[in-house]
Amino acid sequence: MIKFLDLKHQYLSIKPEIDQVISDIINESAFIGGKFVKKFEEDFAKYQDAKFCVSVANGTDALEIAIESLNLPKGSEIIVPANSFIATSEAVTRNNLKVIFCDCNPDNYSILISDLKNKITSKTKAIIAVHLYGHPADMTSINQIAKENNLRVIEDSAQAHSAEHNGKRVGAIGDIGTFSFYPGKNLGAYGDGGAITTNNKELAEKCRMIANHGRIEKYNHVLEGRNSRLDALQAGILNVKLKYLDAWVTKRNLIASYYLDNLSNLGDIVLAGVAPFVTLHAYHLFVIRTNQRDQLKNFLQENNIETGIHYPIALPKLKAYAYLNQSQTCINACSFDDRLLSLPIGEHLTEDEIETIVKKVKLYFKR
Ligand SMILES: *Cc1c(COP(=O)(O)O)cnc(C)c1O
Repeated sequence: MIKFLDLKHQYLSIKPEIDQVISDIINESAFIGGKFVKKFEEDFAKYQDAKFCVSVANGTDALEIAIESLNLPKGSEIIVPANSFIATSEAVTRNNLKVIFCDCNPDNYSILISDLKNKITSKTKAIIAVHLYGHPADMTSINQIAKENNLRVIEDSAQAHSAEHNGKRVGAIGDIGTFSFYPGKNLGAYGDGGAITTNNKELAEKCRMIANHGRIEKYNHVLEGRNSRLDALQAGILNVKLKYLDAWVTKRNLIASYYLDNLSNLGDIVLAGVAPFVTLHAYHLFVIRTNQRDQLKNFLQENNIETGIHYPIALPKLKAYAYLNQSQTCINACSFDDRLLSLPIGEHLTEDEIETIVKKVKLYFKR
């Protein structure tokens, strides 16, 4: 079986270092806070070109806390891409704010700038840009629109560790950015984990307080917060893995170029484009579009190739959002969801496996 994701393979490639750091942390009983967490926050901030990094328990919390830190007025609307994971919109609703879905760009699936402009009302207070599949959103246009309309910009970078927009890593190009270290992400922990990045000291301090019971020191709470912390074991594991991230992303890019070279002009496949401002694509996912998605997926499965779908139901069409009645307002996202297919990509794949995947996709369309 050619695997979509192989975390065991990755672990075996760095086993001595991972085993060592886990045993060090257990030996020190340094489970919450402490030097491993501090080191990861410092190194990850530097890596993502951000001044500050606040680690939290997961990527969903990172979004919720980042939005809370902006202190938006009651009744505010936040614009959210229709093609994303539900965490992006959940974080808005969990803050008692209103989700307004925005359509996706048919070329690279990130937020469609023309539709973004249409969705702004007098109540709009923020935009969530999702760097979907590892392809940075058009931050220059988004920041410009935000400036003209006095909006805050949150970058959901859960799929885009290391991705660059015009030479700058994502996460602190807008006001505040969020990351997930869910095991399957490009930089994944061995459990849940997340982080918030920003160049704004005030926002960073606010997030840190919210994530740690609103305290400034032990038992001195200046506001009511919550418990959302990255534990030290995860931080230690992430410290090890961060060193390998560049190499892993390079491998993802090599696989993507091979796919792009070999799958163009094949059947009705539409390959995703890479916008000119993308100086580094993180290629968390390699997504193709075809009217024969389900048949192709089954054919590949029969040929021992795992694939994925991101996402099978566009957010506005989910039952959870039926009450919003917005599926007619995001035409691309709501019609692409039954045509998207994610091919395997990742450092676990061998050259032979990539060649096999391409051969089988070609075979499917030539039958
Ligand atoms: C994974 C993901 C999240 C949520 O992260 P968790 O760590 O699983 O909570 C949010 N947004 C996007 C786009 C994601 O892919």
